[in-house]
Amino acid sequence: MEKREQLYEGKAKKVYKTDDPELLIVSYKDDATAFNGEKKGTIVGKGVINNRVTNHLMQKLEKAGIPTHFVKELSDTDTVVKKVSIVPLEVIIRNISAGSFAKRYGVEEGIVFDQPTIEFSYKNDDLGDPLINSYHALALKLATPEEIETIKKYAFQVNDLLKSFMKEIGIDLVDFKLEFGRLTDGTIVLADEISPDTCRLWDEKTHEKLDKDRFRRDLGGVEDAYHEVMRRLMGE
Ligand code: ADP
Ligand code: UDP
Repeated sequence: MEKREQLYEGKAKKVYKTDDPELLIVSYKDDATAFNGEKKGTIVGKGVINNRVTNHLMQKLEKAGIPTHFVKELSDTDTVVKKVSIVPLEVIIRNISAGSFAKRYGVEEGIVFDQPTIEFSYKNDDLGDPLINSYHALALKLATPEEIETIKKYAFQVNDLLKSFMKEIGIDLVDFKLEFGRLTDGTIVLADEISPDTCRLWDEKTHEKLDKDRFRRDLGGVEDAYHEVMRRLMGE
């Protein structure tokens, strides 16, 4: 399988056509951005780690019954995925207070919730991905009521699975962002990535941050933290 025309270059990945109209190749970059692109940088080795970590987790989720876009890892940075029409919602699940939740509601980081929360942002860079609720998503016709129900169900199932995959390697899953898409027949599948760029991951003992907050907050040791997540997950 080879890359054909480049369809899109995003902040973290490039997306290419292939000879099969139903398949795309995503190519992960080392570029890092935060705060809606205001902060820019490079995390050396991030492309390889996020590609490999995403594929490892997507395959484990697929085995556990979550339909995903994953098809085949082509190289350290490139993966074949099923082409989807992305539902323009960032689906965020939280188990522990952090980031924009802590800021918005004026609470400290690290409060463990009795049950996970779900929220949606409207995926729209020009508007800065505003927080919306499911009624807003319906009013904006971003998804049907059935699609929203399916997305919520999968998102909480993914949370239960990811939480246990992470617990096995001594990591607390604080929060994360998912994206879903529609295959040509309308089936909803998990798409995009699951990586230290899109999850908050805290060491269960030291509470050390092993995710993009090290970049966002200039904490140093960014590359080492990403590498540590891959090492614990995949043993390398
Ligand atoms: P951004 O667009 O936020 O800068 P990326 O750099 O990660 O993000 O770009 C990857 C783009 O590809 C995103 O817009 C994402 O929604 C989209 N995408 C992810 N998986 C698929 C897929 N299977 N089919 C089509 N588009 C996808
Ligand atoms: N997230 C993401 N992409 C985004 C926004 C958030 O992957 O565009 C992830 C982020 O890494 C964190 C979770 O979603 O794991 C919740 O992020 P939050 O709303 O706290 O926003 P942030 O602190 O990133 O502004």
